[in-house]
Amino acid sequence: MIPYLRQTLLLRTRNTRKCHIYSKRFYKFCTTWEKQFANVLNHPTDVTKETWENMRKYAMESEEKPQIVDSYILLMCKQANYLDVGINYYKFLESNNYNPTVSTIALYLKLYDLKNDPITKADMDHILNLYNYITSQYQLFDSTTSDILVRVLCKIDEWREAIKVIEKFEMMDNNFLRSGYSALIAYLYNCGEIDLAYKYLIASIKTGIGPTDEAYSAYIMYCLKERDKFKERLEILFNLWNKYDIKPTKNIIGKFITICNNNGWSARLTTITSLTCSTCKKSLIQADLTKDEYIRLEKAVLDKLIMKNIYSVTDPHEIKTYINFINNRKPYDVIIDGLNIVSKYKFCTFAEHLIYYKKKNKKVLVIGRFHMNKIANMKNLQDLADFFFVHNWSQDDLFVLYAAFKSGQNTIILSNDLMRQHKFALDNIELHTLFKKWQASHHYISNGCSIPDSRVQIDSIIQKQDNCWHIPYMCGHFAPQTKHTSTSNWACFNMCPQ
Ligand SMILES: [Zn+2]
Repeated sequence: MIPYLRQTLLLRTRNTRKCHIYSKRFYKFCTTWEKQFANVLNHPTDVTKETWENMRKYAMESEEKPQIVDSYILLMCKQANYLDVGINYYKFLESNNYNPTVSTIALYLKLYDLKNDPITKADMDHILNLYNYITSQYQLFDSTTSDILVRVLCKIDEWREAIKVIEKFEMMDNNFLRSGYSALIAYLYNCGEIDLAYKYLIASIKTGIGPTDEAYSAYIMYCLKERDKFKERLEILFNLWNKYDIKPTKNIIGKFITICNNNGWSARLTTITSLTCSTCKKSLIQADLTKDEYIRLEKAVLDKLIMKNIYSVTDPHEIKTYINFINNRKPYDVIIDGLNIVSKYKFCTFAEHLIYYKKKNKKVLVIGRFHMNKIANMKNLQDLADFFFVHNWSQDDLFVLYAAFKSGQNTIILSNDLMRQHKFALDNIELHTLFKKWQASHHYISNGCSIPDSRVQIDSIIQKQDNCWHIPYMCGHFAPQTKHTSTSNWACFNMCPQ
């Protein structure tokens, strides 16, 4: 219990500091500090104890919370890339019995993580001693500290301890240690621990976020180690990106393009216009789900999404009536979210859609609301489709999905509701991706024209057509969570160019 309480205290301290340190005042302090101590910052290895003390005093006078002054100084060193200054300042603290806090120790270790120079044996021993010290004082660490520990432990070849940090963290917290995982995966690939590296690569990809470029860079270097396995290994990664809906960054795609071109592929950035790649001219029609994938998604949608939620959005009598109605009348070819279409466009557009499907001999179900019955001419459409009206308070998109999945794999839906909330309600990343793929080939929207054939602008997924992989990549730091609907920001990887 005591270590847990200590840990709680640690987290609160860090959070308070976190809000504080990124204030304007912090940046102002950094600027004035850089002027005041330019000599120290430029020559950090030959600084007297008195000068370090003056620096500390100066920071304390400028900072309203003197108890965090050392973290403050190290953070400044990190932000402004004065890594050796921070490292030497910490050593001054330690050798003069200032008793650095865990936050200060963590920041000191972070400086080693950022340093590109080789770490001396003495510094490696020091890092390990500090790690042993803080783990003897605390059983658990927050995500920031855990990430730092994992990274710096990999840097000094203590990867088994790094794994222990991850395992301890994951026993108490569901957050993904993305930075730590990435460093560990890269380290394991670089040192030839391939099975273990793959285990952590898969685990990180299954979060739906994936590791950072650092891990993918190490992965492609591993692919290069045996030229005859290059294609097979790279396709393993691309298939994982497809299965778990991962989008790489522009930076890593650029690196992959260079390496693939050096290995006989033809890879380049491209654009996708009207679902066609401007480079290889192949059509990117989203492949439908396999039978097994569809069965899995159908079960999840009916169990997890609909049966679990529908009682909260309608009344039991209405559900019973609806289920009997569907069982007696299915299968349908097209399910239309009637209210959604009528409210977005004119009633005549809605009627034109029904006429269009009638001409194509499609069996159509319209889910509407009771109040739609009051629309003049609604009764004239009864020969074109089946209608089921739900209470005005019912959530009709669940009715649409129920009818679609009860009708089978060939059924399409027409709705301008992109159903994002349902996608996210499927709390498994694989199901989430399957739902997206299903939408890509079964979910149509009305764009106001008489023919409702515009496919939903859904988030794009990496895909393979013959020998070409088409990969949507993202720009920016938070790439994995960002939706990708643009025609640019694609890469075409042709594995067998002629
Ligand atoms: Zn292409």
